Amino acid sequence: MILGQEPILLTPGPLTTSPATRQAMLRDWGSWDAQFNRITASLRRDLVDIVHGGDTHVCVPLQGSGTFSVEAAIGTLTPRDARILVPDNGAYCQRLLTICRYLGRDAVALPIADDQAASAAAIDEALTRDPSITHVAQVHLETGAGVLNPLAEIARVCQKHGTGLIVDAMSSFGALDIDVRSMPFDALVAASGKCLEGVPGMGFVIAKRSVLEASGGNSHSLAMDLHDQYMYMQKTTQWRFTPPTHVVAALRAAVDQFLAEGGPTIRGERYRRNCRTLLDGMASLGFRPFLAPEIQAPVIVTFHAPADSKYDFNAFYAAVRERGYILYPGKLTRIDTFRVGCIGAVDDNEMRNVVTAVEQSLSSLGIRQVAPLTHPA
Ligand SMILES: *Cc1c(COP(=O)(O)O)cnc(C)c1O
Repeated sequence: MILGQEPILLTPGPLTTSPATRQAMLRDWGSWDAQFNRITASLRRDLVDIVHGGDTHVCVPLQGSGTFSVEAAIGTLTPRDARILVPDNGAYCQRLLTICRYLGRDAVALPIADDQAASAAAIDEALTRDPSITHVAQVHLETGAGVLNPLAEIARVCQKHGTGLIVDAMSSFGALDIDVRSMPFDALVAASGKCLEGVPGMGFVIAKRSVLEASGGNSHSLAMDLHDQYMYMQKTTQWRFTPPTHVVAALRAAVDQFLAEGGPTIRGERYRRNCRTLLDGMASLGFRPFLAPEIQAPVIVTFHAPADSKYDFNAFYAAVRERGYILYPGKLTRIDTFRVGCIGAVDDNEMRNVVTAVEQSLSSLGIRQVAPLTHPA
């Protein structure tokens, strides 16, 4: 890290943004200013276009972090007597279950190991066994460990059963190709501060218009009522309540850069290069990734903690931070891990520098045994 420079965030949101994105926040906007509302409208259009939503889907933005939009989507787009299947391979799947519990939606968990992807066949079987299930709530990329779940296959299974599908695509939107024409969904939820590389503060739901229009009266909450937000925005072009103006302006700048870079395919390639550089470099230091390469998404990598008795995450974090990089703690309960994000305004050179920072940190802390002593084959 250059002295006085802010550390690079290798966390899956908030993440490191570009100077142009930060620059876009230097101006104040009025909430009913026509120019500001045109920014909102253009973003809503562009976000639908990214998933090829055409006229069948619409984008409803919502104030708050991503979880607010997930909760709003479930609370608005499922009826109160819905029965929701939640394939569970990690922390964000468990959050969906918690949301269902808070909202009084009947939820059925489909447990999966946290180092395995969800299986479309198992979901098919669960829907066949229990025809009272009305919806599937699926995390696309389980950020807890970094597992990619097979969304296209799962969407086809839901379509076959006539089951509604709500997708938490928070950490995949913008990095992986998502096409609603081949992966039909009722709603897909993402946010400003992840792979679009905006700043945190707003989420958005890309909802099937017919489902959204029929959802009036479902929501338990005024602030979280997506149907009301949508109707108000259609009528007035404005946000219902105070918009996160600076976040919206930053997201407009971030999406401009995203489109100029070439959209999800090209951004995904940059992240894949970041991820490969990180995995190779860390392997050369003795680190083992938690996931098999087939299910490792190029967004966040979980590593086994060094086996050395001198290892302590807080000291390791501090040593790496001193060298300019912010790591992320693990989110698994049964084993000790830490995570490194590959997303944000960073390239593979930066990832090489991260590996160097980790190497120097290990040596300054006297950590010699990096590889786990008993690594499952
Ligand atoms: C980041 C994230 C969320 C939202 O988390 P917030 O803390 O509310 O931003 C939800 N689901 C997944 C898979 C995520 O990665």
